[in-house]
Amino acid sequence: MSREKILIIEDEKDLVKLLKYNLEKAGFDVVAAHDGESGLALLRKEKPSLVVLDIMLPKMDGFEVCKAIRQDAKVPILMLTAKREELDKIIGLELGADDYVTKPFSVREVIARIKAITRRASESQTERSLIRVGHLTIDLEGHDILIQGKSIRLSPKEFELLKTLVKAKGRALSREKLLDEVWGIEDSMNIDTRTVDQHVARMREKLGPEGTRIMTVQNLGYRFKAD
Ligand code: CA
Repeated sequence: MSREKILIIEDEKDLVKLLKYNLEKAGFDVVAAHDGESGLALLRKEKPSLVVLDIMLPKMDGFEVCKAIRQDAKVPILMLTAKREELDKIIGLELGADDYVTKPFSVREVIARIKAITRRASESQTERSLIRVGHLTIDLEGHDILIQGKSIRLSPKEFELLKTLVKAKGRALSREKLLDEVWGIEDSMNIDTRTVDQHVARMREKLGPEGTRIMTVQNLGYRFKAD
């Protein structure tokens, strides 16, 4: 998986350095701009997964930058504020910032907020997507399976099982792992691994020719063959 990129727009260079150092240590890539205009240019060029945006900036202030970003991008924005009035303004103007922290802040807190926002953003993105394999379309959000546009009725557990296998991208998953993922750790203690086999058998039947994509891996479990 590629590292997520964070764009920092802040003119206090020491603060940028501090955030950059700690974000990189936490596994992010970091690009930075010291004023609003170059920040917007970097945003277009680098397509970051999150923007840390200070309000007090030379030339364009953070409010203007935030508005400009929101005109054409949904990228999450974490605002940095130094004053109570700024905070009121962020909330009052409904600028579309996702979160804010007030200066002085602890770097740990900023990183925790950034992680929370990027996690939320990537979750909502995967949940929205459709997975297409052969004639099969899996609508993760609608909890629906389509074969050549026709809906197939799977039980909730069957759906979760298929989703888990598909998301493993061809890797084989053991029956125990599938029990943990689909039935949950606690339940999986009390359920026989044959439950997985029974669900797979039913799923294969319902999926018809596409059901052969769910392959048995000897002495282990199952894998989903994408092509
Ligand atoms: Ca500043």
